[in-house]
Amino acid sequence: MNHDNSVLTFVELGPDKSILAISLECITAARRLADAFGGAVHGLILGNSVGEAAEELAHYGLDRVYVQDHRLLETYHPETTCSALLKASETLKPKAILLGETLISIDLAPRAAFALDTGLITDCVGFEIYESDIHFIKPVYSSNVMAAYALTTKPYLVTIRSRALDPAERQDDAGAEVIVLDLKLDESAREMEVIERVFEEEEGPKLTSSNIIVSGGRGMGGPEGFAQLAELASLLNASVGASRPPVDLGWAPPKAQVGQTGEKVGPSVYIAVGISGATQHIAGMSASRTIVAINKDPRANIFKIADYGVVGNHEEVVPAFHEAIKSMLRQGGRG
Ligand SMILES: Cc1cc2nc3c(=O)[nH]c(=O)nc-3n(C[C@H](O)[C@H](O)[C@H](O)COP(=O)(O)OP(=O)(O)OC[C@H]3O[C@@H](n4cnc5c(N)ncnc54)[C@H](O)[C@@H]3O)c2cc1C
Repeated sequence: MNHDNSVLTFVELGPDKSILAISLECITAARRLADAFGGAVHGLILGNSVGEAAEELAHYGLDRVYVQDHRLLETYHPETTCSALLKASETLKPKAILLGETLISIDLAPRAAFALDTGLITDCVGFEIYESDIHFIKPVYSSNVMAAYALTTKPYLVTIRSRALDPAERQDDAGAEVIVLDLKLDESAREMEVIERVFEEEEGPKLTSSNIIVSGGRGMGGPEGFAQLAELASLLNASVGASRPPVDLGWAPPKAQVGQTGEKVGPSVYIAVGISGATQHIAGMSASRTIVAINKDPRANIFKIADYGVVGNHEEVVPAFHEAIKSMLRQGGRG
């Protein structure tokens, strides 16, 4: 297949059909790539009744917006959405297709790579551009090493990590051309049925608006450590945050992640338990007014920015802290 130099951004919408922030970040990435290729940046929306979203997307600095509006695309369907993306790629022949690193694209991107017989780089956080070559950068070995990958097949298929780049900004005046596609979708290729889509309910105070955050790191040792932090947080009416490893390991939900690629927070009190204080974590919490660190290693970097520090095992310190707060609350007549 001959490819032009364009970059196609797969744009995802939320339940209210608003454009996801990560898709706007992909547009920023797409523009950088397209500038290097000397090509255009296009957006692609696959959905049902998404005309308004396509018109809105046209204001984010794209050269063209392509939209496929179809009842079969009402909700993400692994086979139908993949088939639509494949047909769009065959029609538009982009040099690269960018997707946000989301739950949908984690499922969709490998399917699309297989169907397009091309390579896939997931979780990309940046690029290095050479004269005729491009290296896609992604963190490996628990983010301890940054690896550079080159793809030898086209289209380049890449998922972009959330918050690795700034989102494209809305421009009130210049709207890109919106082109309605007719990709001839049908149900014949479907072997799966999507029975229900359930959206996670928000529990407890939101991390970014919390006055107190109790955050855990790899040093918590597992989900049971986080259960202990949740009890402490509930006593303090605080939110539970996390460094990246517990999120990667499934001990804490992605929305709890604080740091360069997580939430940026600035509470009155940030309690960091079992967190070493890597620069990428500090990037998300250094604006906290008071930082309390609990860590068994007295040389841990987190102590350099902490206002108060306890050197010890969280298994001993957290329950003691919990009891001390309970007793303070009792004395204050609140418990
Ligand atoms: C591009 C990029 C983006 C990144 N974005 C983020 C981000 O947004 N947020 C983020 O957090 N990280 C991010 N990282 C990862 C970051 O580099 C670190 O790897 C990570 O922050 C380390 O997490 P940690 O402190 O929990 O784990 P570790 O560095 O493994 O530290 C664990 C700590 O727990 C202590 N400990 C162990 N056992 C106990 C115990 N029983 N009691 C008390 N203390 C104990 C240890 O002494 C140690 O200090 C990113 C990395 C890259 C490359």
